[in-house]
Amino acid sequence: MSQYWSKLVHNLDPYVPGEQPKDQRYIKLNTNECPYPPSPKALEAIHAAADDTLRLYPDPNADTLKDAIADYYGVTRANVFAGNGSDEVLAHVFCGLLKHDKPLLYPDISYSFYPVYANLYQIEAQQIPLREDFRLCLGDYSVDNGGIIFPNPNAPTSMAVGLEAIEALLQTYPDSVVVVDEAYIDFGGETAIPLTAKYPNLLVVQTFSKSRSLAGLRVGFAVGHPDLIDALERVKNSFNSYPLGRMAIAGAAAAMRDRDYFETTCQQIIATRAATVQKLTELGFSVLPSAANFVFARPPQGNAEAIYLALKQRGVLVRYFNKPRINEYLRITIGTDEEMTEFLRILTEL
Ligand SMILES: *Cc1c(COP(=O)(O)O)cnc(C)c1O
Repeated sequence: MSQYWSKLVHNLDPYVPGEQPKDQRYIKLNTNECPYPPSPKALEAIHAAADDTLRLYPDPNADTLKDAIADYYGVTRANVFAGNGSDEVLAHVFCGLLKHDKPLLYPDISYSFYPVYANLYQIEAQQIPLREDFRLCLGDYSVDNGGIIFPNPNAPTSMAVGLEAIEALLQTYPDSVVVVDEAYIDFGGETAIPLTAKYPNLLVVQTFSKSRSLAGLRVGFAVGHPDLIDALERVKNSFNSYPLGRMAIAGAAAAMRDRDYFETTCQQIIATRAATVQKLTELGFSVLPSAANFVFARPPQGNAEAIYLALKQRGVLVRYFNKPRINEYLRITIGTDEEMTEFLRILTEL
């Protein structure tokens, strides 16, 4: 009954998330979730929050969560914005900080939500190609622009850029907001958050979905100059004043404060990644240097789609993108050692 749809809805091109199958148990290496459970302290806090206070609205400002994030990064509450997953934070960023007369710039191979938001908010965008070897060179961002966004490490290519390159970009475009989407930063990159003290045009976005094992809780955040945070608060309070429930605020704050558990699970994933890269290389795959909780790898024959389908048939899900430049690659999330051993055993049989 699309006659009832608005013109905007007719023109949307929605994001397609990775499969979350319900038909059988898969080894799930397709959506970059953490294979380890959330911090026990986070689970305790969530259980404790499930009480009679749920009849009351949550704190619209999620101050206890903002304080936990601010303490972790040595910033103040006024530097922190929190939202219902970093996807929601990014949506507010596109609407409140990246919609200008000049084009928004982002990499041609990158997080596929960016073009979706650009379309939703009617933002003119220009894609800047990654180099032939998939390196993101910020020096290539030489177009007059109304904003720049990129993930660091980039997805689905897994490679990170250094802070010097980011700092040079911030200095080149002091009148543009530069957004660094650090969904995977804890697996080997260097966070740009310390640069927010010096550059009022830098916004860093992070999520609890990957390195803090809480994809199901839906919590993300941004750190930057209070003026940037203010813009996001204005958008948020024009959209949904209570994006985070009581259980999400309590669980995410506890996860942020449990440094030991976080560091242990990240280190484990980094170790498993190293072993996986070595095995894949022995099997003839070319694997891009990863600073993320996934690897981007080309099978020796480039027959990525056939391998994706054969793995799926054997109960292993990885991500395949049928897109120019990357259709000979597989994106493989790093699971537990046991999951990766089983994945590599099946892959060797194939
Ligand atoms: C997973 C991911 C996100 C979204 O995370 P949520 O907090 O779960 O919404 C954002 N950006 C990139 C690059 C991601 O891979």
